[in-house]
Amino acid sequence: MNEISIDKGTLYIVATPIGNLGDISARALEVLAQVDIIACEDTRHTQKLLSAFAIKNKTLSMHDHNERQRQDYIATLLQEGKSIALVSDAGTPLISDPGFHLVRHCRSLGLCVSPIPGACAAISALSVAGLPTDRFSFEGFLPAKSGARQSTLLALAEEPRTMVFYDAPRRAIDTVNDIVTTLGGNRYVVIARELTKTFETVHSDNAENLHAWLEKDPNQLKGEMVLIIEGYQADPDEISAEVINTLKLLLGEMKPKKACAIAAEIHGVKKNALYDIALSFKK
Ligand code: SAM
Repeated sequence: MNEISIDKGTLYIVATPIGNLGDISARALEVLAQVDIIACEDTRHTQKLLSAFAIKNKTLSMHDHNERQRQDYIATLLQEGKSIALVSDAGTPLISDPGFHLVRHCRSLGLCVSPIPGACAAISALSVAGLPTDRFSFEGFLPAKSGARQSTLLALAEEPRTMVFYDAPRRAIDTVNDIVTTLGGNRYVVIARELTKTFETVHSDNAENLHAWLEKDPNQLKGEMVLIIEGYQADPDEISAEVINTLKLLLGEMKPKKACAIAAEIHGVKKNALYDIALSFKK
């Protein structure tokens, strides 16, 4: 293994485990031991992690509410040549966690920002979900209230990429119910709960069955979870509103058989698929 040398004036973005402490990397441990200061969301939480690895180092709190104030101070320390690590309570900082403003500020000042990669709940869940990963969208936390959650889901109803969300398991039944309402009971959904921990569970089914499964087992409403929703797949047999419009116009001028043939030619669809629609209009 290569020796790690800590660069002066560098901000290290250090991923920490999302459950199992064995997932911390050798580089993360060396960086956390050697930097001048560790900026963290919750100093007590991070102290526990450091103690588990017998690391003694200084910590500085940096959370959602003081990030803007802290960024100038941290940038000054970096400019003085100090090395700093940023960690969050779990996983990769900045991913639904603080750090974005700090990183942007440091980069705008030309300071060096370097990643120490590791666990991330979204990527871990995606890696076991069995849904397409060639393209996906990370959507962060779903809103806690049903109305806002349904609006969020509706806006994504025709998103073709796999969608990854963070959500609280205690809301899982309501959330899956909202998925049934907005995206339909057939949409394939994966729940990845308590990843890397004792009660790790990865369960997938269509939204309707998943809802029934959750209602039967209250244990599934505990801990932490990632929710993954299959992207929208257009039904190849579905006739678009545009095609129907053309068909209607043509039916006013000619017999159904000819109207279907022309509409099919214009839009590149099968004419047989249009025939029943044409007859229903004629009636
Ligand atoms: N920065 C973190 C990351 O890289 O994954 C995420 C932080 S966000 C504040 C916390 C959310 O991540 C939880 O509410 C849950 O949705 C998800 N999460 C974290 N740990 C998890 C785990 N072990 N299993 C499933 N989901 C987890």
